Amino acid sequence: MQSNKSYFAYVDSIEHTREGLSICFDAIPTETLERLHQATTFETRAGELEPVILETLDPSKNSHNLRVDHWCRFNIATKSSFGSLAAQQYRSPNNVENIEEVFIENIEHLDGRGRLSRSLRQLVSLDGLQDATQNNIEALLNHKISEQEDNYLAVYNVGQGACLAVLANSLQPALYFDLGGGCLKNAGTYPVNFQPCFTLNPPVVLSHWHMDHWISGDRHQSAQQLPWIVPRQALGPSDMRFAQKLQSYGSLIIWPNNLTSLITPFCEIHKIPNASNRNNSGLVFVAKVGPHNDKVNVLCSDDAKYVKLLHLISSLRLGGLIATHHGGLYRGDIPPQASITSNYIAYSYGQRNSYGYPNRQTVNKHQNAGLTTRRDSINGNQTIPILGTLPGMSLCSGGRCSLTIVQ
Ligand SMILES: [Zn+2]
Ligand SMILES: [Zn+2]
Repeated sequence: MQSNKSYFAYVDSIEHTREGLSICFDAIPTETLERLHQATTFETRAGELEPVILETLDPSKNSHNLRVDHWCRFNIATKSSFGSLAAQQYRSPNNVENIEEVFIENIEHLDGRGRLSRSLRQLVSLDGLQDATQNNIEALLNHKISEQEDNYLAVYNVGQGACLAVLANSLQPALYFDLGGGCLKNAGTYPVNFQPCFTLNPPVVLSHWHMDHWISGDRHQSAQQLPWIVPRQALGPSDMRFAQKLQSYGSLIIWPNNLTSLITPFCEIHKIPNASNRNNSGLVFVAKVGPHNDKVNVLCSDDAKYVKLLHLISSLRLGGLIATHHGGLYRGDIPPQASITSNYIAYSYGQRNSYGYPNRQTVNKHQNAGLTTRRDSINGNQTIPILGTLPGMSLCSGGRCSLTIVQ
């Protein structure tokens, strides 16, 4: 039987690929809106959400006027019709067994200034939750690693996504920067045995609310009990559901938008000024790593364009870089120049990912900027700087984690 249902959808991402426009939607039935209006707290609003995630490829490259991080409306049908788009529908970000084939029709972009769009933006959001204070956040970061200690930045293999950590002398993570990984159509790139280590009770700094940057936190329930320092950004219903899981453990620490940066002996965290695009409005991380007498700054730009970080780049003596957006192509965006003594570049992506990352032009741009000591997460867990000797045994006492460095 033909069935047809109306949805509001947050445009999670639009990627240009050789085959066409690859679009990901995070959608809720339109009938949810009324119940959201009646819910009075963040928790009750999140409880009303039953999102579905849809991935589609439009070979005609027709964007239907869609804009990333904006809302739209469409129907989902079980049969194709003229102009409809075939899509894969997921019931949850981690449920890749139950994928349904559906068809999206009558896509309608909602004007960002319109009443409907504005209420969706308010209802599907972190509104109602308080910001943390600078003191709260400092207390979570301080005393994790001292200046006198040798430390490293780890780039873990999580498939098509990102998960970095500043390691203590023991090589255990003292702080995670993102806890993401391969999901949805790139779920197959996620290493089946990936098991993060939480021995040191590390805080997690979330760069921005994209699933490939938080999915490991959803997969590993114990990760939800760690403090998560997150930016206040516009987000989709699935992101809000995950935020609610963190909130239920008291783990959601919201970075105040007016706090521009925090500096500790082993890292700097900077807030990129607000922008409508999540990639360009999150938290940027600078790891200060290396032997205690020779530390270098490694810029972890997550998915932000370098042009958004110029103020930072110009004031930093850079010893290494995590390539932005998994090595994806930002036309006209120029990477920072390597320093003479240290020129690390690392790419975090999944083997044979659907986007074709890292893009060849992007790799050339980094190469031309003098960033020539290259590391790729697909080759296994890496560190910057490179370890003198590799540890022979597993890191945590229980021996359960999979974070052994292979570099
Ligand atoms: Zn990403
Ligand atoms: Zn992103």
